[in-house]
Amino acid sequence: MNPHLPSIILRSMLITSIFSLFLIACGSGSGGDDKKFSPNMQIVEKWKHLKMIDIHNHDACCDKAYQRYKQLFDTYYIDKIVLFGDISEPSAINTDEVAWNAYKDNPARIIPFFSGFEMYQPQGLDRVVANIKKGYFGVGETVAASTNSPVASVVAWKAQHPMDGNLPQIYKICADYDVPILLHIDPLSGFSIEKLEEALKAFPTTKFILGHVNAYNSPANLVHLPATYSNLYLDFLPGFTRYNPDSAYSLKDWIPLIKQYPDRFMLSTDSGYGVGHEEALFAMYELIDLINDEAIAKKIARENFLNLIKAKL
Ligand SMILES: [Zn+2]
Repeated sequence: MNPHLPSIILRSMLITSIFSLFLIACGSGSGGDDKKFSPNMQIVEKWKHLKMIDIHNHDACCDKAYQRYKQLFDTYYIDKIVLFGDISEPSAINTDEVAWNAYKDNPARIIPFFSGFEMYQPQGLDRVVANIKKGYFGVGETVAASTNSPVASVVAWKAQHPMDGNLPQIYKICADYDVPILLHIDPLSGFSIEKLEEALKAFPTTKFILGHVNAYNSPANLVHLPATYSNLYLDFLPGFTRYNPDSAYSLKDWIPLIKQYPDRFMLSTDSGYGVGHEEALFAMYELIDLINDEAIAKKIARENFLNLIKAKL
């Protein structure tokens, strides 16, 4: 027997587990779509009256994925989808256009955001203003910091931290035009969160949405943000907590925090990143059913987001 075998195995296990830590929700493509998934649709029927909104969806990418998933979104009674595609890289300019055209085809269902703009050149600001004037409902998903995500950490137009590059001026533009900005930040701790807090303080009338706040994060680590900043909204991704084996917490673990800040949370699928579209959709209903409170359910499933963009609806 190779005497080095145990250490080789150990090392490869370590590398595997470190790598799995790096798989952070976010990015184009869905991955993990599981044909064997058999959800209890009674839960969906029970809560279908909520007319849910998926506030973070990348399906403008990948050859108009939103068209392929239309039937699935109908099955899950998703009323509206905040749609964009690639993020913080040149190809996002094209997928932003796809999202816009999807909105033109179906304005009742599609809410287009955009993410394709230069982070360091002045024309990035011109592009942001032009897109908002065109009618996009928000900015994002924008990579304001990324170290661990294999997708977001390598995009050409990512910022190094939430006060980097054009971001401060974009926050000001968002406040002036009253549109929200959806930020990807990983990790959700340390320097990147310190700089996010700097932004939240410096731009108190900008509506910030922090993407997938429950991915690789704990309720205890998150709580000080909504407690301190009234201009911060929280994009919660039930599919990660429920179906991604990397989640260290259960949906139940998050419910006290959601109940504490029912006006701040919103739900999304992130296009089922890492778990599959259907799992991500069903998990939204599982969370709602666990919360089992009609008033809170209405807020997080729909009203909170509509309030953010009400001027445009
Ligand atoms: Zn995303």
